[in-house]
Amino acid sequence: MALYVQKYGGTSVGSVERIEAVADKVKSFRAQGHDIVVVVSAMSGETNRLIALAKDIQEHPDSREMDVLISTGEQVTIALLAMALKKRGIDARSYTGGQVRILTDNAHSKARIQDIETQRIRTDLDAGRVVIVAGFQGVDADGNITTLGRGGSDTTGVALAAALKADECQIYTDVDGVYTTDPRVVASACRLEKITFEEMLEMASLGSKVLQIRSVEFAGKYKVPLRVLSSFKDGPGTLITTEDEDTVEKPIISGIAFNRDEAKLTVKGVPDLPGVASRILGPISRQNIEVDMIVQNVAADKTTDFTFTVHRNDYDKAYQILQQIVAELGAREYVGNKEIAKVSIVGVGMRSHAGVASKMFDTLAAENINILMISTSEIKVSVVIAEKYMELAVRALHAAFNLDKADTVCE
Ligand code: ADP
Ligand code: ASP
Ligand code: MG
Repeated sequence: MALYVQKYGGTSVGSVERIEAVADKVKSFRAQGHDIVVVVSAMSGETNRLIALAKDIQEHPDSREMDVLISTGEQVTIALLAMALKKRGIDARSYTGGQVRILTDNAHSKARIQDIETQRIRTDLDAGRVVIVAGFQGVDADGNITTLGRGGSDTTGVALAAALKADECQIYTDVDGVYTTDPRVVASACRLEKITFEEMLEMASLGSKVLQIRSVEFAGKYKVPLRVLSSFKDGPGTLITTEDEDTVEKPIISGIAFNRDEAKLTVKGVPDLPGVASRILGPISRQNIEVDMIVQNVAADKTTDFTFTVHRNDYDKAYQILQQIVAELGAREYVGNKEIAKVSIVGVGMRSHAGVASKMFDTLAAENINILMISTSEIKVSVVIAEKYMELAVRALHAAFNLDKADTVCE
């Protein structure tokens, strides 16, 4: 019999009815003799509601207190699920992250898991209990409650599966697997039977929020068998695996990711001298602003235009910093644009195929979509375009790379 760690997301525990349905599902796994550790998210919308409450008091609330607040959503669902299981005659026990103990660093709101004590869970499993753990939260060395970043319950699930050496970590959500792109944007997107850790990591990093980035990193590092499934309907879902031999047979592009969370800033007419990049990006990084894409080009007059993207939440801060350094640099002007989106094609098959990027550019050109920035790696090509064309670009690329259901068999 197997040990499964099953994570149920916000929609899957979004109401008492849904929690009862999860209890039925867990009961059926127990009936087959499997050991089950369940990780739950807060009810859908709850974490946002809690954040809004805090912001009503203060725009930037204290980060320690924020974690005390937003970790409460998961404490509600663990208890309700334990009650629903007990009602069904299944012995179950709920634990907060701190009770388990899921030890993290002290970076509030983006804490990293450092260690998980498994003894308490093992004792419960040996006694035939279902163990229910609150996702998204842990505790630092001083006993302060921490949270793992939005979508962090995925990481709790994977980390627990790694610590317990579970047979599989199953992420139950509101879609029945990982699709070639977000099925809410492209109706003809199709479910992938398998995807490599490497591709999934790119997809997640480039905007596919079906799995939190860190959960994929963790699963890849500790070789945790990971599956994304629907809690609403039965099916095999999508298995995230290590790369297999039949890569040659794989489609060149596995998926398309998109992201509306970035903004672009450009410093124009900077004298082209050594140290420009460091003088622009140094002050930005010292304010803890992460820079994603960077483009620099030199004009005939020996000046350079320097463009970079940051998270949209950091845009105002970055804009203010530029205001200060533009004069020091002797640059002509600086401009910013928040209405951008990043669209990326991802696939390990790209390694062995030329012309993938140019096919992407041709497809966008045929739709009259202007490309503002480009970045590539071995297994992805990303472009920045105007936000209003994002969905059009994703649909056109999905069709051009034969990912539409009619063209390819994903299942
Ligand atoms: P949960 O609350 O269960 O954690 P999320 O909302 O975090 O669920 O993740 C599931 C959502 O991810 C889906 O509803 C879907 O809209 C979105 N999504 C984005 N990209 C993809 C993709 N490539 N495949 C499947 N779902 C995707
Ligand atoms: N409840 C948290 C969030 O909404 C964590 C999670 O759902 O994974 O981000
Ligand atoms: Mg999620």
